Amino acid sequence: MQYLGVIGHPMKRSLSPVFQQAALDHLRLDIAYQAWPTPPDGLETRIIGLRAPAVLGANVTIPHKETVIPLLDEVDDLVRRVGAVNTIVNKDGRLHGHNTDVNGFLRALRQDGGLEPAGQRVVVTGAGGAAHAVVAGLLQAGAASVCVINRTFIRAEKLVADMRAAAGATKLQALPDRPEDWRKALNGAALLVNCTSVGSEGALSDSAEEKNSPVPLEIVNSGALAGLLVFDLIYRPALTPLMAAAQRAGARVLGGLPMLIHQGASSFQMWTGREAPVDIMLTAAQDALLREGA
Ligand code: NDP
Repeated sequence: MQYLGVIGHPMKRSLSPVFQQAALDHLRLDIAYQAWPTPPDGLETRIIGLRAPAVLGANVTIPHKETVIPLLDEVDDLVRRVGAVNTIVNKDGRLHGHNTDVNGFLRALRQDGGLEPAGQRVVVTGAGGAAHAVVAGLLQAGAASVCVINRTFIRAEKLVADMRAAAGATKLQALPDRPEDWRKALNGAALLVNCTSVGSEGALSDSAEEKNSPVPLEIVNSGALAGLLVFDLIYRPALTPLMAAAQRAGARVLGGLPMLIHQGASSFQMWTGREAPVDIMLTAAQDALLREGA
């Protein structure tokens, strides 16, 4: 028996063990994928444990994606650009760090969202780990422009500064989270990506509708999203308040589950060398969410 797992803290209801195990079982691989809850002060010991011959590797999630980097032997170029690792591969006791969120985002956008980002104007809201991966993907794909809007403006500016070297011909800029800047950013855009946690199950507020939307409601209701693809990275709930409002305002919408599955499929291929059964993974994740009532 060999082992894989996901390292995070706190690890509430991670879907990875469900859909990765479904894929491993489908291919009759004698591998167990487990949840490995790991508080920050236990990270170093956990990473040492990954060097054991029976361990193929791991996924890494909040809050360890950045802090794990110095504990690894090697990281690829994409990790250096994004500044985060979500996949570790154990090769004969040496640990290699990768980031499959970028690829997962691009695959979901193209295959599930039906949108090719090359040459498009894009608005990204959020400036955390997920936004770094999304912006790296958009730059890699040759978007015409990427506007980053975040509640804390200085973090949007930092993201743009971090990514500037990879921007190439893409116009990359940070804008404050104000209605007039949203209007400017969305003018001519084809895609809006929500990389904030606003609207996620744990953060849902029943007070004001405004608080559950990362985009000011006056902007959503002004028709500025009509015709756009609104890609919300959140997958709990399946239909976020932003997606519901955007749909009413004439946008197409895509939730975060396809990205989660595609990043997991890329990790699966790195560990096993086998093509991931994406449909099996998606069905397992959807069933788990249905059982939860998400
Ligand atoms: P981080 O904690 O790194 O970033 C959170 C972001 O949300 C920040 O930009 C923060 O803004 C913003 N934010 C939080 N609360 C509010 C609020 N009340 N109003 C406005 N902005 C707010 O998280 P991640 O980047 O890792 O993840 C972001 C989301 O993406 C999560 O919901 C996560 O589940 C999802 N995700 C989905 C993936 C998938 O595969 N589908 C993959 C990775 C992430 P500020 O800087 O001002 O604090």
